[in-house]
Amino acid sequence: MPFKAEYIWVDGTQPTAKLRSKTKIVDDGADLPIWGFDGSSTNQAPGDKSDCVLNPVLSCPDPIRGGDNVLVMCEVLLIDGTPHPTNTRAACTALASQYEDQEPIFGIEQEYTFFKDGRPYGFPVGGGYPAPQGGYYCGVGADEVFGREIVEKHMDACLTAGLHLSGINAEVMPGQWEFQIGPVAAPRVADELWVARWLLYRIAEEFGIAATLDPKPVKGDWNGAGAHTNFSTNAMRSGYDAIITACEALGKRVPEHIAGYGAGIEHRLTGMHETAPWSEYSYGVSDRGASVRIPWQVEKDGKGYIEDRRPNANCDPYVTTALIIETCCSALAQP
Ligand code: ADP
Ligand code: MN
Ligand code: MN
Ligand code: MN
Repeated sequence: MPFKAEYIWVDGTQPTAKLRSKTKIVDDGADLPIWGFDGSSTNQAPGDKSDCVLNPVLSCPDPIRGGDNVLVMCEVLLIDGTPHPTNTRAACTALASQYEDQEPIFGIEQEYTFFKDGRPYGFPVGGGYPAPQGGYYCGVGADEVFGREIVEKHMDACLTAGLHLSGINAEVMPGQWEFQIGPVAAPRVADELWVARWLLYRIAEEFGIAATLDPKPVKGDWNGAGAHTNFSTNAMRSGYDAIITACEALGKRVPEHIAGYGAGIEHRLTGMHETAPWSEYSYGVSDRGASVRIPWQVEKDGKGYIEDRRPNANCDPYVTTALIIETCCSALAQP
């Protein structure tokens, strides 16, 4: 029996790329071939040179269709086989292999917000606002959390697909949730995060609900949505000096990191709502108002990992992980 392969890729939409996918029927036993698409419909090519190439980089069981069907995460290539300008994975892969000996790994906390009928899911149907933040984070009960049926289905789907999902929780604003992928090396952690995002959109679609990665879905006194990126190298997992070296290194390339951490970051990193201002860098133990947090357990153990709290929910994890590797691993490589 032939099987269905859902080819998934990141498009060229600016300033925030979207996911696209289409289905290929593949003969039983055949390898997953490279494939193509119309780049003029995805902001990836002009109409007269519209062909772009899909190159599979990760395939996994398709938890939605089941059976022998698969999801296929792809990178986009030009017809000459080189990376397309929108292919941010290529640079991530190069940096990861350059610093492979340091064994960098990442755990990414993906926050997101459900929307129904143009409002965050759980906001009053007649308009206006729900009770202020306070009881929703990790809440329980129909008056506190909204959309758990989708969250549970998404969690099961990620596990069936074999993704390294490490947990989920309800977030600070109604309709806002989080899942975590990792710890895994780049670029795999980013491949898996893109597949997990695709599954989230796809499963929420069946409920008539849109999952969005808008970094500040509701203006005012409501938390934004981030993608806290937890990071360690072999040296950081072995001693505290390397933890400090990484924190200091991140403070020396602030504009580069902010520019790569997702569109609209200045609306989220205001210095309020558990954020540090985007223009000022700080790090600290247990400090959720710092740019980078050293978990208390890491200080106590004298080793472990750090949490860069700045990346937006709508960041490209190929870009964020590449920036962190470039900045921290080059600093840690110095004798
Ligand atoms: P928070 O307390 O900030 O909400 P979470 O539990 O949501 O933290 O996420 C922490 C993430 O850090 C998880 O994805 C976890 O896998 C990851 N993590 C744990 N240890 C390491 C490590 N040594 N290096 C990188 N990531 C790690
Ligand atoms: Mn978290
Ligand atoms: Mn969170
Ligand atoms: Mn966090």
